[in-house]
Amino acid sequence: TEACLKAIEGADALGAFVHKTPEIALEQAKAADARIKAGDAPAMCGLPIGVKDLFCTKGVPSQAASAILEGFTPEYESTVTSQLFGAGAVMLGKLNMDEFAMGSSNENTCYGPAVNPWKRTGDDAKLTPGGSSGGSASAVAADLCLAATGTDTGGSIRQPAAFTGITGIKPTYGRCSRWGIVAYASSLDQAGPMTKDVRDAAIMLQAMCGHDPKDSTSADLPVPDFEAMLTGDIRGKTIGIPKEYRVEGMPEEISKLWDDGAKMLADAGAKIVEISLPHTKYALPAYYVIAPAEASSNLARYDGVRYGHRAKLSQGEGINDMYEKTRAEGFGLEVQRRIMVGTYVLSAGFYDAYYNRARKVRTLIKKDFEDAFAAGVDAILAPATPSSAFGIGEMKTADPVQMYLQDVFTVTLNLAGLPGVAVPTGLDSKGLPLGLQLIGRPWEEGDLLNTAYALE
Ligand code: GLN
Repeated sequence: TEACLKAIEGADALGAFVHKTPEIALEQAKAADARIKAGDAPAMCGLPIGVKDLFCTKGVPSQAASAILEGFTPEYESTVTSQLFGAGAVMLGKLNMDEFAMGSSNENTCYGPAVNPWKRTGDDAKLTPGGSSGGSASAVAADLCLAATGTDTGGSIRQPAAFTGITGIKPTYGRCSRWGIVAYASSLDQAGPMTKDVRDAAIMLQAMCGHDPKDSTSADLPVPDFEAMLTGDIRGKTIGIPKEYRVEGMPEEISKLWDDGAKMLADAGAKIVEISLPHTKYALPAYYVIAPAEASSNLARYDGVRYGHRAKLSQGEGINDMYEKTRAEGFGLEVQRRIMVGTYVLSAGFYDAYYNRARKVRTLIKKDFEDAFAAGVDAILAPATPSSAFGIGEMKTADPVQMYLQDVFTVTLNLAGLPGVAVPTGLDSKGLPLGLQLIGRPWEEGDLLNTAYALE
C-alpha cells in the first residue's frame, strides 16, 4: 500500500486518481495486516486497489466525473466496494472516467483527461487510455494499484483494458449488484474487475459478485470458485469466429491479431468454427438509442435539489430557471447530447420509430448469440477494439459518431447481457498494446476466464 501511495504521488501527470484516500488506505492496510497475523486472511487481504469514480464510497467524494455532483459525498457504500473491502481490499482512491460513463476516451470529464502510460514508439504524443473506465486502466497499467474496479455499459471495461495492455471482464448482467453505482443505462450497466492478468480478474470478480436483495436485477445464483476453474485446459471447446466482425477497413494488424489468437486456441486443443451473428451491424445504432434513452431518465434526478451542484439565481428567477441553469452548468456537452437524444427517442411521436425499434433489434441480437451457443459454440473470439489507443484530442468531438464507432465490437454483448473479457495479446507496429475479446455463455464467467487464460 505504501509503495502504491508513493507511485500515485509521482504520477499526477496521468490524471488517473482524482480523489486520493491515503488515510483510509493505511488504516485498511493495518487492519489487513492484523487479519493476516491472526490467520484469517480473505482472498484480497491487503491488496491495494483503485475505485472508479462511478461507485459511491462512504465518506469519500463520488462524482462520476461530473461537475453536477461536485461536493457529493455519499452516506453509503456501494455493494461491490463493500464486498471488496469485506474481502480485505484496500482503497487507494477514486479514479478518473468519462462523465457518467459516457465516452470512449476519458476526455469527457470534469477533472481533465486521464492519460495512457503507453506511448507510440518515437512519438511523445499523449494517448488516451480509452473510456469510460480510463483512469482505472491507466492506474493498473502504470502500476499505481494492483487492480481497479470498472463498469461496462457498452465496452467501458474492455476497450480501456485493450488500450492499456491489461485484462478486464464484464460479467453477465446481474452477476454484480448495481446498488450504489451511479446509473447510466440500467439495463446494460455492469461492474467488473480491471487487472494485470486473468488470474487476478478471477479472484477479484469472485469478491465483487453475488446476489444482493438491494438490486432487483441481481441474480440469486451461486458464485463458483473462478480461480479454481483456471486449468488452462480448453481441449474440446468450440470457439466461434463471427464473420460479421470482419468489418470493412479493418486494419491488417487487427485482423492478424485475431487470426493469431484463433491459432493459439486451436493449438491448445479448441475447435475453431466460423459463425454468423447476422444482426451485428444493428448493434451500434440500437445501443446509441437505448443507452441515451435510459440515461435521459436516470439523469433526471440531478435537479439541483437532491445532489451536488446548484446554480446561483438572479433576482426574479424561479424553480424552472434553477433546474435549467443547474443542468446547463453541471452537465458536460456529451452528457447533454445524450439526454437530448434520449428524450427525443422516448418522446410520444418517435417512441415507436426509435426506442421500440431498438428494443426489437436488441431481441434479435440476443437471439443471434443464443443460436450460436445452441449450435455448440462455447465462446466467441473477436477483436476488442478497431484500433490501438489514439491520441488525446485526435478524435475530436465535432463528429461524435467517430467516437461511437470505437464501440463497434464491444456494445453487442451488453445488449445481450452476456459476459465478455478483453485480454492483451500483442503490440502493433507503433509498439502499442492490442487486445482480443472473448464472449461467453451467460453465467459461465469461470469457463470464459479459463479460455482467456489459454490466450495469455
Ligand atoms: N463508449 C460507450 C458509451 O459512451 C461505452 C460506455 C460504457 O460502457 N460505460 O456509451
